[in-house]
Parts: sequence; structure tokens; C-alpha cells
Amino acid sequence: MTNLTNRQQEYLNAMGIDVWLPKGAIVVEHAGEEVAPAVVEAAAAEPVTTAELPQSALASLDTDVSTLDWDALQTCVTECRLCELHKTRTQTVFGVGNRNADWLIIGEAPGADEDRQGEPFVGRAGQLLNSMLQALDLAREDVYIANILKCRPPQNRDPKAEEVAHCMPWLQRQIQLIQPKVILALGRIAAQNLLQTNTSLGRLRGRLHYIDMTPTPVIVTYHPAYLLRSPLEKRKSWEDLLLAKKTLESGVS
Ligand code: SF4
Repeated sequence: MTNLTNRQQEYLNAMGIDVWLPKGAIVVEHAGEEVAPAVVEAAAAEPVTTAELPQSALASLDTDVSTLDWDALQTCVTECRLCELHKTRTQTVFGVGNRNADWLIIGEAPGADEDRQGEPFVGRAGQLLNSMLQALDLAREDVYIANILKCRPPQNRDPKAEEVAHCMPWLQRQIQLIQPKVILALGRIAAQNLLQTNTSLGRLRGRLHYIDMTPTPVIVTYHPAYLLRSPLEKRKSWEDLLLAKKTLESGVS
């Protein structure tokens, strides 16, 4: 059994987890019939900067997203009006963290707190995510955190398919730029949209998934907001985090 540091045990306690479960073998699931991967070609040329964005780009966003550098990408997202959600947002929520992170955490969409503060995973769910990361000896600043959608759906309803279709290229470009070693999808909505599947979260957990645009393994776990409502599932979530850590450390891709 792996030995925990006092600090890890402290954070596990904060998560409501008091048992360290031994891990089994890593199960790998390559994109198959159920997983139709999103495809974005990696940009070979020098990234396009904000200054180089075509005049029309911000109006129509008629630009090749896969060529944008970080600043140009953030500018495009800030100005984005590709779906109806721009009408009700307070601001876009681009993403936050280390742009060279090994870990990319992907959630569903901004909620009320995130819409107000412009940062993903703030509020109680964000605090629990921070505890989950700290249990892995990671600070929030060590990882990159983003959502499938950059704008809040009204009343926190589920994202519509057309909203995801419009917004996904922003996230895909973030993945290209970060080149993380592991992607953690939080919750059913994030997982199903990222992997383009209708498979239940329960069946997506416990194995590695791949999307065509990156060799990075994707691991699925529960959304922290769900864990707040269903604390008994925290232990399973911890298993998922350990799978992600083990995957990263073993260099599986
Ligand atoms: S949700 Fe995404 S696609 Fe829709 S307006 Fe916001 S940034 Fe644009």
C-alpha cells in the first residue's frame, strides 16, 4: 500500500475519504465505435498573434482556430458570439492555470459564481476540486482548468449540442497549446462531449480514453458539484484521481 504524507491525509480527510484503495491494472480504451473523436489538425506554422488576427476575425470568427496563439485565442473567446449564450453571460470564462501543465482539468460550463468572477471552478465545487488536487500534492496553479463551454447556460441547464459544437474548437486549441500529459474530465457532460459518446459516466470511469487530436489519455470522474451532493462517491473519485496520477507517472499514451 502506498504511504500517504500527512498533508495528503489531511486533504483526503477534507474530501471525506479515509481509506486509500489499492489500484489495479490500468485499462485502456481506444476510441472505438462508441467514441467518435473530435479532430483538429495540429498547427505546423507559427501561431497567429492578436495583432495578426484578420480584421474580420473578431466579427465573424472566420479564422483558423488551430493557428492562434494564447493571446489571440483568449481575445477570440472574449469576443465570441457564436452561440446564444453570449446574450446572457456576464463574461466569458476562458480557463485558468499553468499553460504548460501536465494536468488539464475539464469541466462542463461556468455556473453563477464562475460567470461573475470569470474563472472556472470557484465556489464550493471549486474548493472541493482544490482539495482533490491537493490530495495529489498539486496546487491549483500547477494544473490548467477549463470548461467545455466558455459561457454560462441560463439556470445552469445542460449545454445544447449546437453550443458545444460552436465552443469546442476553443477548448481543442487550448489542448493543442498546453499538450498536457493527462486530461481529467469532470462529470458526465464534460466526458460525453469530449469523447462524443452517450455512454454513462459509470461506464466511462476506470479506463483510459483517447481523442484523435491528441495522444493524451483522458480519464473520467465525477464533477465536484455532484460529489458535494453525493459524498459517498468521493471514494470512487479518489480512485479515478489515482488512476490519472498513475497514468501520468507511467507515461502511458
Ligand atoms: S459558449 Fe462558447 S461558442 Fe457560445 S458564445 Fe460563449 S464562447 Fe462563444
